[in-house]
Amino acid sequence: MTNKFFSSSANATDSSNTLPPLWQDIVDLVAEIAQVPAALIMRGDSKCMEVLVSSRGDDNPYHVGDKEPISDDLYCHHVATTGLPLHVRNALQQDEWKNNPDIKIGMVAYYGIPIHSPNGECYGTFCILDRKERYFDSKITQLMSLLGRSIETSLTLQDENQKLSQEIQQRDHYHSLTNLPTQSQAQHAYENKDYRHLTILFIRNIQAYDIRDNLGLLDAQRLTKVFYQQVKAILPSNADIYYISNSEMILVQETQKGDDLQGEAEQLASQLHALFSHPIALNKKSITVPISIGCAFSYDKEFSFSELLDMATVACTQGTSTGKTFHIFNPEQQEKRKHYYEVTQQFSSAFANSEFYLNYQPIISALTDEVVGCEALVRWKNAKFGMIYPDEFIPLAEQCGAMNPLGDWIIDEALRCLHGWQKEQQPNPDFYVSINISSTQLCQDDFADKVIGKLKAQNINPSSILLEFTETALLSNEAQVMSHCQKLAKAGVKIALDDFGTGFSSLSHLHDFPIDVVKIDKSFIFNLNKSQKSSQLVKGILSLGKLLDLQIVAEGVESQDVCSHLQFLKCDFMQGYYWNRPMGQTEFEKKYIITAKKK
Ligand code: C2E
Ligand code: CA
Ligand code: CA
Repeated sequence: MTNKFFSSSANATDSSNTLPPLWQDIVDLVAEIAQVPAALIMRGDSKCMEVLVSSRGDDNPYHVGDKEPISDDLYCHHVATTGLPLHVRNALQQDEWKNNPDIKIGMVAYYGIPIHSPNGECYGTFCILDRKERYFDSKITQLMSLLGRSIETSLTLQDENQKLSQEIQQRDHYHSLTNLPTQSQAQHAYENKDYRHLTILFIRNIQAYDIRDNLGLLDAQRLTKVFYQQVKAILPSNADIYYISNSEMILVQETQKGDDLQGEAEQLASQLHALFSHPIALNKKSITVPISIGCAFSYDKEFSFSELLDMATVACTQGTSTGKTFHIFNPEQQEKRKHYYEVTQQFSSAFANSEFYLNYQPIISALTDEVVGCEALVRWKNAKFGMIYPDEFIPLAEQCGAMNPLGDWIIDEALRCLHGWQKEQQPNPDFYVSINISSTQLCQDDFADKVIGKLKAQNINPSSILLEFTETALLSNEAQVMSHCQKLAKAGVKIALDDFGTGFSSLSHLHDFPIDVVKIDKSFIFNLNKSQKSSQLVKGILSLGKLLDLQIVAEGVESQDVCSHLQFLKCDFMQGYYWNRPMGQTEFEKKYIITAKKK
């Protein structure tokens, strides 16, 4: 006979894995108070009753997992089917219970109550058994019903917990605004799927933040919804769409034939671009959503879903940073980015391990051939990557926020060195140190004050330093940089415009900013004797310098010929490998400071 009272999902072994911990204490307690060898919580299904929890004690013949086949003679089966408590004082003396299988193991007395699941169906029983005739008084039966309710409460709690975790899982797998499956769902689906060839297209709304800031949060969310709906509408049957963020989604395309994955992806990408070439209408506004698509392929299960997703994400970023709207994952580019990332990770330990140091390159007067100063150039000897040059690490330091502390250290170190030279070796009193300043440093509100403070602290005459800015740095935040320049100029600090000729080479910048020195970029100096255009440009800058009362430095002088040519053109100062490459502090001192003192 099938037992309609047990819930259909009843499976004693499954639920026994997650039994509430209090149940063992409950059966132990009741066995002790009732002074019986066995107190049990039983779970049943249509075939048998199973011991879920059994009181501890040497005299207890029931063990967790023991099963009794369903029969009408079974005490617990009776309780479960009637839904009522059952009290058997002595089965041997009661005809209806004389075939009860528990008699065989000596259990003749029984008291049991039904336990209900939260949905009202019978879950099982809670019972006590004894070897001798027993009358279980009301104290015991009341205690049993009280503890029975506590067992039912813990079942309800367990049920609610289960529902809650299912809800959380659902929320994790579906995005509430777009109702689209999320990345975790994709991961779950494809990590367990036997796919052959897979393509992921990573689509990003590259103006999402601007759009959100201009439309407001609410309309931006509405737009997100439309954005997803539009993509969903043109999706081929073998592709799935997943939500990544409010501005990003992925399309996963699965194919059996791998001969034209790229062609298919390109076709889909051009469909998407065509779709978003039309503005989206929203609340009487029409909004253009520019998208960038990154793409990666896995032929014959070459990559796992997670690896492929990472590659498509990187491809999208690679594309966006190079202004492309469709970009296929490029492993070399990724290697480079990875290297940059790893270098960036080294900054904090580099400071701690004092891996940075300064090199100095002499600056020569074209008139007297004497050294008038030097340019401080930062170097990084890293424990992991060895020598790293500033052209590589300065832009990375700017991006990751390490430039300002590094810039401060460079200024401090250059001033410390200059202070030492001035104090101990007293070179030419006009000797100066030129320090390169990055645009990031100029964005600090207190930049000028900080430099002036540092000069005071080291007791250094402000005219003994020259700060080199590029034109790009001047323009990065024109008003703020102008205020810094004016403060610095007022304090007596000299300012140079570096790499002149490569950027805007604007006359108005030379006029508007308080600039003292212009450094002609080395690319023109290299070609001075080779290219008519370079020599015209150098001549032009030199005559402009005379006109605006600026001093001109030519950098990148590598030969006697170029040096003579610059002297002929009446250039003021020169710098280059012809005299020396940038060198360490001690070598520079030996070569230029001590010699200068002797003279
Ligand atoms: P820059 O400011 O234009 O510095 C001149 C660069 O040209 C230096 O390269 C120098 O070693 C090199 N150079 C000098 N004479 C010659 C020559 O005759 N031939 C050739 N081929 N090269 C010559 P370095 O030290 O590798 O620096 C590269 C760039 O990195 C610098 O260009 C500057 O933009 C940046 N940098 C270097 N040190 C610092 C620093 O302390 N702070 C900041 N913010 N940037 C720095
Ligand atoms: Ca420079
Ligand atoms: Ca330069």
